Amino acid sequence: MPDAGLVLRSTRVITPEGTRAASVAVTGGTITAVLPYEAPVPGTARLTDLGDDVLLPGLVDTHVHVNDPGRSEWEGFWTATRAAAAGGVTTLLDMPLNSLPPTTTTAHLRAKRRAAAGRTHVDVGFWGGALPGNAEDLRPLHEAGVFGFKAFLSPSGVDEFPHLGQDRLARTLEEIAAFDGLLIVHAEDPDRLAAAPQHGGPRYADFLASRPRDAEDTAVALLLAQAERLDARVHILHLSSGDALPLIAGAKTDGIRVTVETCPHYLTLAAEEVPDGAGEFKCCPPIREAANQGPLWQALADGVIDCVVTDHSPSTADLKTADFATAWGGISGLQLGLPAVWTGARERGHGLEDVVRWMSTRTAELVGLDDRKGAIAPGRDADFAVLAPEETFTVDPAGLQHRNRVTAYAGRTLYGVVKSTWLRGRRIMADGEFTAPRGRLLTRLP
Ligand SMILES: [Zn+2]
Repeated sequence: MPDAGLVLRSTRVITPEGTRAASVAVTGGTITAVLPYEAPVPGTARLTDLGDDVLLPGLVDTHVHVNDPGRSEWEGFWTATRAAAAGGVTTLLDMPLNSLPPTTTTAHLRAKRRAAAGRTHVDVGFWGGALPGNAEDLRPLHEAGVFGFKAFLSPSGVDEFPHLGQDRLARTLEEIAAFDGLLIVHAEDPDRLAAAPQHGGPRYADFLASRPRDAEDTAVALLLAQAERLDARVHILHLSSGDALPLIAGAKTDGIRVTVETCPHYLTLAAEEVPDGAGEFKCCPPIREAANQGPLWQALADGVIDCVVTDHSPSTADLKTADFATAWGGISGLQLGLPAVWTGARERGHGLEDVVRWMSTRTAELVGLDDRKGAIAPGRDADFAVLAPEETFTVDPAGLQHRNRVTAYAGRTLYGVVKSTWLRGRRIMADGEFTAPRGRLLTRLP
């Protein structure tokens, strides 16, 4: 064994080659070797024996709305990153909107970094935003280290982050393609949304009808056509409509540079179960029918959908009103993403290796962090989650670290208890207790 400050030993370590009994050597916050279970431990090293608990790479959640500064009563860097640590997430990427200012200029990025500095329990990176008026800000933001740019094709829900029309989308994508950046897109078509029945009120069925699948399918088609025309890199955020999958599969076969994410709530919650007036279930695109879930799981298995992210987008409880038309749209799931997805995965015959691929390895690859994150392998950061996958717990909102303890998962019994979380070789959470924040602010650049 090479010189190691720390050795983590488990009968079940999830590595890129599969799950096996192993001893993981860590020096200076970096994994230096993955060795046989019985490898002798040097006298200078500290040994942590995890028994049969599973050692997996810390999750990389590339879709989180921290809302700080500006709407920090909705969430904040301190609380969001504590929730992340509690849920086995060691890296998160903050979305450019719902904070004030939004991350749409380099000055705004500096404001975000100031708000986050010294207050993050896990590593945090930033997305930039692409608005109708900020084309000249995109390259400077790229050079300042944002991981890509988010745009909406339909209204975002906040006035300070207007959506791009079709012509603006083309010009924005052209600008971003010029430096081979990544455009990540909320894909719902505003005309299809406007044409759908808008009844408002507390009935979930009415809300679902107001955000039909064809609004997503149409927007996805538009985006794929633009990506093909410009040979640009695009990423489809929070895909909900299973009907869009054949189109995406075809695009991938044709070599269009597209990646796709979905979310735990689309995989595990069903429209038929959403109580009327339960605003905590509102998000856009919406949670759809149970029959929509099978195709999403199959697409994950087939690689048509690349990854799973939480799209944690909280607000204060008073904004999650009983009227689905006016309630804030966003599901709070940062702390619960891993157990929610694992519970659904095991029911459908998928392994924990699959969950790790969807929630850590592929998300790290999406944002170019796969030299540091996303796998238990030599040279990567020693970021880990320790999971008891056979243990269950019932979700009690009082146990959440989110600033607002509102969740669509309340009362659900989930598999997978996160026992501890490690960041660069230091245990940052154990059995619900946290150390002082040790997270770093990440940039796209090394
Ligand atoms: Zn989002």
